[in-house]
Amino acid sequence: MSTIAPGATIGIFGGGQLGRMTAMAARTLGYHVHVLDPDPDCAASAVSDRVVAASFDDAAAAADLAAHCDVVTLEIEQIGIAALEAASRHAPLRPGASILGIVQDRGRQKRWLAQHGFPIGDYRDVASAADVESASRDLGPLIVKACHGGYDGRSQVRVDDVAESVDAWAALGGRPSVAERLLDLDSELSVMVARRPSGEIAVFPPALNVHERQILAWSVLPAPLPASIARDADEIARTIAGAFELEGVLAVEMFVLRDGTLLVNELAPRPHNSFHETEVACSTSQFEQLVRAICDLPLGDTRALRPGAIFNLFGDLWLDGPPRFEAALAQPGVRLHLYGKRGPRPGRKMGHLSAIGDTPEDALARVRAAATAIR
Ligand code: ADP
Ligand code: MG
Repeated sequence: MSTIAPGATIGIFGGGQLGRMTAMAARTLGYHVHVLDPDPDCAASAVSDRVVAASFDDAAAAADLAAHCDVVTLEIEQIGIAALEAASRHAPLRPGASILGIVQDRGRQKRWLAQHGFPIGDYRDVASAADVESASRDLGPLIVKACHGGYDGRSQVRVDDVAESVDAWAALGGRPSVAERLLDLDSELSVMVARRPSGEIAVFPPALNVHERQILAWSVLPAPLPASIARDADEIARTIAGAFELEGVLAVEMFVLRDGTLLVNELAPRPHNSFHETEVACSTSQFEQLVRAICDLPLGDTRALRPGAIFNLFGDLWLDGPPRFEAALAQPGVRLHLYGKRGPRPGRKMGHLSAIGDTPEDALARVRAAATAIR
């Protein structure tokens, strides 16, 4: 048995909101928590026993983190491979460096998905403006995404016409990228799968996600989608987790095209913004599930006991003074979750509202009403 029992110490690369919520779940289960983050006052610092303030490329700091922990996980994929390897010499790293090495690079990730037979949209690897031009000629309108370092739509440029290729390439800083065909999306969904070292797998129902300016605006679980799509999405996520021999959780972002085709967009081997509603909709949150998975404990029930929805709160809301929290909380079934971040900045995720309802539409209507009231 490889169980890491409550009382042990969990290390987390990254002390943002995902690290903070993971730490809170770990504490509820009786674990100690250490985090590594460049910012000593990071969101997770308030609920952690120790913050190692260091960059995500600092191998010595990573070794220091892991040397005091029984298992190490992460809330962000962009950790230097040397740092990951340094950590894994001192404590089990879950998920491991092999999956991270693939997922960290959009090009490698797409190649892996294609080689393993998972459905993805048309794309080309691009390493020059000329490559972008020929991709644009072959595929039509594109979204060009740098292989490294982007999230929430950063490091991505849209190319509607061949003539825009040179500027797009310059805007990306001439970094190795993937050029994806701009897809005609009906909807976006995500599936969260957990797998523990002993092999048990559990999958949450798909969440339906709506993005604004390429950033998640709101999400609802279970996704009000045909059962056949939900089944296929579950099967894809399960198979990916098995193929990686995942230890931890993995979010699979997917696209549903107008003709009903289901495609994999990208993978995130960590908790995901679109599963925050598991905290209200399910008996096990995604954060508790991550703790169970990395500690090789039995995985929790993933059923949606009732529909739940979340609405992200960005720093923009703080521009004219504090948001009207009381007005939001006066809405029935609504909860407020703030991440304890100090500086509100436009576009920065500061917290979210959540609501439960009798149906997904009902949960969504409630959380929307609260989001309107908070302004
Ligand atoms: P990030 O790492 O920033 O989440 P994504 O690849 O998920 O990057 O892109 C962010 C969002 O941009 C997606 O959720 C989707 O709304 C939109 N998008 C990305 N790629 C495409 C595409 N090929 N066609 C249409 N929309 C896309
Ligand atoms: Mg994404």
